[in-house]
Amino acid sequence: MITVFSGGTGTPKLLQGIKEIVDPRELTIIVNTLENNYFSGVYVSADVDTVLYTMADMINDETWYGVKGDTFVTNERLGELGCPELLRIGDIDRATKIQKTQLMERYGLSKAIEIQSKNMGIKSKIIPMSDEQSDIKIITDIGELEFHDFLIKHQSEPEVLDINFSNVSPSDGIIDAIKNSEAVIIGPSNPITSILPILSLKGVKEALNETYVVAVSPIIGSDSVSGPASKFMKALNIDVSSVGVASLYEDFLDNIVIDNEDSDKEQQLKQIINKVTITNTIMNNLGVKKNLAQTIIDSIP
Ligand code: GDP
Repeated sequence: MITVFSGGTGTPKLLQGIKEIVDPRELTIIVNTLENNYFSGVYVSADVDTVLYTMADMINDETWYGVKGDTFVTNERLGELGCPELLRIGDIDRATKIQKTQLMERYGLSKAIEIQSKNMGIKSKIIPMSDEQSDIKIITDIGELEFHDFLIKHQSEPEVLDINFSNVSPSDGIIDAIKNSEAVIIGPSNPITSILPILSLKGVKEALNETYVVAVSPIIGSDSVSGPASKFMKALNIDVSSVGVASLYEDFLDNIVIDNEDSDKEQQLKQIINKVTITNTIMNNLGVKKNLAQTIIDSIP
């Protein structure tokens, strides 16, 4: 069994490679739920849906949000009715979210996702990090903002001073999945708002200490490939580099995978992490995604 920790952009790209070379039944994906909330009357679990659509080969992999080729009839009508949506939800995507909301309210989020995975023909196990509702606030120079207000309404532009999020309990099966895995892959996701929430769950770090853990850096050079990760790291006084990423995971990390562009950081990284793997990590086509996945799998002792 291989377990992957995922957010909603960088790691799903890697999952497209992993699913080509690993038996999907041998894969468990633990997904961030920190930013989950209700929007337009439906529950939005954006990172989970991105992972579902990725594993079902439906993802819009230009935006890493929603379903490829989706239509926006409902979204447009809501706008005409004077009810514009903060999150632009496509029609097929909305159907998934309507079903998930109903299932979640009846059975809880984990079970809802299990049912949806099965309905979508997904063989891997997809587990939300928690069944509890999180609370996240981005503290900025213009005040305290909800995550999606910061990201979408304000286009990640305000200066970030701090990030506060509540602790939640791990959903059932997470600790066992980690302990029963031959390796845990921490994908190249936002270390602050996608990976730290998973690492903060009770028992996760202890379980990782007993498992081989390999992480791919989402930071190349001194910036993130996309999204606000570098802004969030700066706000928390973490060096915006693969070294800064490694410092967050150093207590349990066995191998850090960095981009060719960062080969000058190898010696510095070797002082804190046992193994440093240098390869192309810019996943702009399936070949790179598969090669990166293969390099990671080959590194498992
Ligand atoms: P979010 O939930 O949409 O914020 O997405 P994630 O947390 O999964 O991913 C965001 C991170 O993915 C950013 O920090 C990016 O730097 C990283 N990322 C995106 N594409 C790539 C890529 O091709 N290579 C690497 N190394 N990182 C990437």
